[in-house]
Amino acid sequence: MTDTTSGDAARATDSAERAGVDMETLISLCKRRGFIFQSSEIYGGLQGAWDYGPLGVEMKRNVKDAWWRANVRERDDMVGLDAAILMHPQVWRASGHLDTFTDPMVDCRNCQARFRADELPSAGDGVCPNCGAKGQFTEPRMFNLMLRTFVGPVQDDAATVYLRPETAAGIFVNFENVLTTTRRKLPFGVAQIGKSFRNEITPKNFIFRTREFEQMEIEYFCRPEESARVHDAWMRDRMAWYARFGMQSGRLRLRAHEREELSHYSSATSDVEYLFPIGWAELEGIANRGSFDLTQHSTYSGKDLNYYDDDRKEHVVPHVIEPSLGVDRCMLAFLADSYDEEVDEKGEKRVVLHLHPALAPIKVAVLPLSRNEKLTPTARDVYARVRLHWMTQYDDAQSIGRRYRRQDEIGTPLCVTVDFQTVEEDRAVTIRERDSMAQVRVPIDGLVDALRERLVDVG
Ligand code: ATP
Repeated sequence: MTDTTSGDAARATDSAERAGVDMETLISLCKRRGFIFQSSEIYGGLQGAWDYGPLGVEMKRNVKDAWWRANVRERDDMVGLDAAILMHPQVWRASGHLDTFTDPMVDCRNCQARFRADELPSAGDGVCPNCGAKGQFTEPRMFNLMLRTFVGPVQDDAATVYLRPETAAGIFVNFENVLTTTRRKLPFGVAQIGKSFRNEITPKNFIFRTREFEQMEIEYFCRPEESARVHDAWMRDRMAWYARFGMQSGRLRLRAHEREELSHYSSATSDVEYLFPIGWAELEGIANRGSFDLTQHSTYSGKDLNYYDDDRKEHVVPHVIEPSLGVDRCMLAFLADSYDEEVDEKGEKRVVLHLHPALAPIKVAVLPLSRNEKLTPTARDVYARVRLHWMTQYDDAQSIGRRYRRQDEIGTPLCVTVDFQTVEEDRAVTIRERDSMAQVRVPIDGLVDALRERLVDVG
């Protein structure tokens, strides 16, 4: 749940560290190249919502696939779920969200700007960051972050439902369904990816904090006495996942919550923090939630959500470990992490996204040396072959150097160039690698294999 003791970059204040790229540069690249656009931009935009463009949607799918692959497909103790966004309102009473999913909000009486009280800089001096007025803040009021809507034609209390503020609840309320249909034994986990909504008082920092976002969540059920060990194992697994997909280890750390930060039901929570352009901030939470959720939903629904241990002949309420990660925040971390500005051999600036090939939106770009009509049929043929296997782009506009730069800037790991030698002499093409800029010539007939060799761990 929301950490009410600190702002986004809370821990950035105790260190001036920042990731290499600043947020403006990243936002501008994302917009210019079609990764991410402001929602409803032609109407002036809607705060706290962002749209993923042609490259963004590919990268976002890749992030989700990389997560699903590692956490569901490659494991024998995990299954998936896709629960509805709209749920019975009692769910949120049982989970505690109706009563406690709140942030403290204050208004400035002078300029009417609204703030999260716990995020105001220079706490306690009462100066409005918007207009500079002093002592004009209202008393903090607790503001519930759940977005409300109505089901059916009558808009009254009985028809009120909430857009889920996290995906986890869908897993807890389906605990029995999953258990009986899969006949799983403890320990096992359920993974889910889906949209969540929070009426954040101050959405900000690009896709770091938005009102509509996606989450990738795991609820891993185990025997109570194993929960500490399982929690440790998940922390290791999750850190290994970031490393596998190329995250720089120096910009990633685990931070255990202090006792006063912990929710009352959690015996331990650690955040995976990333060194964002705004400083160190939470990327993922990994919580030991004990038996809180299953117990609450048992109480409120009247259904026994427990597990019968056949070997020990006893009923047990499993404890749960919850690794919970935002897709959008994860994408921001991978974008910031991979961004680099280099100077090439001609002394020109080269912007590169060193994205892991599995995450890169385009895996291969096919580039004829020029638009010469001799080259086009062969280049088109190469393009047709390659795009059967991977997301591929064809580009024949402007100089080859410019086209390499364009692909570098969107993180395309491999470019394939078709030149006159290809059509006149050897039916071979040049593969050029993004990071090393090394070039190697391969026959067209062996191209797909040569590309596959280089596209390591692409699912
Ligand atoms: P924060 O303290 O940043 O508000 P939280 O502790 O409330 O986050 P959780 O409830 O643990 O976050 O949610 C799990 C993950 O979901 C977070 O680590 C983050 O990656 C993502 N997430 C949460 N809220 C948002 C949001 N408003 N926009 C984008 N991602 C979010």
